[in-house]
Amino acid sequence: MVKPKTEEEIELLRINGDLVSRTLAEVGKMVAPGVTTAKLNEVAETFIRDHGAIPSFKGFEGFPAALCMSVNDVVVHGFPSERPLEEGDIVSVDCGTLYKGYNGDSAYTFPVGEVDAETRRLMDVTKASLYKGIEAAVAGNRTGDIGYAVQSYAESFGFSVVRELEGHGLGKEMHEDPGVPNYGRRGHGARLLSGMVICIEPMICAGGRGVYLAKNGWAVHTSDHKNAAHYELTVVIRNGRAEQLSTFDYIEKDGSIKF
Ligand code: MG
Ligand code: MG
Repeated sequence: MVKPKTEEEIELLRINGDLVSRTLAEVGKMVAPGVTTAKLNEVAETFIRDHGAIPSFKGFEGFPAALCMSVNDVVVHGFPSERPLEEGDIVSVDCGTLYKGYNGDSAYTFPVGEVDAETRRLMDVTKASLYKGIEAAVAGNRTGDIGYAVQSYAESFGFSVVRELEGHGLGKEMHEDPGVPNYGRRGHGARLLSGMVICIEPMICAGGRGVYLAKNGWAVHTSDHKNAAHYELTVVIRNGRAEQLSTFDYIEKDGSIKF
């Protein structure tokens, strides 16, 4: 049984959500051909620590970095590396923070320079599918309603949905119940209750939905090596709707960067 969060807990999760959102924007300002994901990781870790928080991914089950950096056919959980980003790449940046015992968790897929039209469409559809999922995240609905909303939208564009990974509850733990799949049937799955805090994070593939785990035990690749995109926001369910605790506004409305 999932216990709804108290107002105090929601406030701490909101502070974390704000910090991960601002960290992603700091990273986004630097995404460009020639920059290494290792450098972006370093900047993010410094930014998080300068705000009195801890990068929660670092050391989590042995993960070596502050950010997951997943380039092109890597869906999620890529390691930052010394390989410079190239024009036309896309990079999913997933960021987690721990502040006052609570977690933040959000992700954004950035284009590196100009990307081709199909890749742009993959990114746009994946992000829009996340907002479709958020619209379905109302008290009384079930996780299957979120999954259905994401899946039906993404698939209507001919894209496919990764099934091996899913969204999750968020609180003192980085991954709490309920699991929030990005596919599903309306009216099925865990009941959504007012006060629940969840992360919704569609992982959408340009080609088939098959994935495999890299030899390092972390990076999840598409089996056909076509691109995948990944966006994640944290929301609290209340007052008949999902209220965002994290945001892409710092990335998209700041004005200094255009995505
Ligand atoms: Mg995440
Ligand atoms: Mg997550």
